[in-house]
Amino acid sequence: MRLFRPILSLVLVLVTTLLVSCSSPTQAKIPTVYSPEKVAQLQSYREPIALARENMATLKQFIDAENWVNTRTFIHGPLGGLRQEMAAASRKLLLKDQKTAQNLAKELFVHFEKIDAAAKDRNVSLVNEQYAEAIKDFDAYLSLIPTNS
Ligand code: ZN
Repeated sequence: MRLFRPILSLVLVLVTTLLVSCSSPTQAKIPTVYSPEKVAQLQSYREPIALARENMATLKQFIDAENWVNTRTFIHGPLGGLRQEMAAASRKLLLKDQKTAQNLAKELFVHFEKIDAAAKDRNVSLVNEQYAEAIKDFDAYLSLIPTNS
């Protein structure tokens, strides 16, 4: 054991040195801007999310008409796949933007849940407030995905 410990620390030092020397070139390679190829690739991830953003106008129509059944159906139905689409797109973003994107997506769905609850309570002002918040987070999320148009 007395001999084993120093050897172990020496091994640890070697491993650490090796890891540091291996990881630094990799770290330098982490992209900080999108390549044109990456932008092109991201369009297929952006498309369904941008479409869902456009469809928010339909949700607004239901809210304006105080049609709470359709409002709640819309949140539980057409927006269902959005969570996965946003999660998938977030993972394809620059490393520095991934956390922001994930947080915005998380917040967006909190607003949807609040719209759902407020619609159930027929609380018009709260529904509208949460709708506005959802739009803000939605647009902020989309602004993180580069477009080639
Ligand atoms: Zn928010």
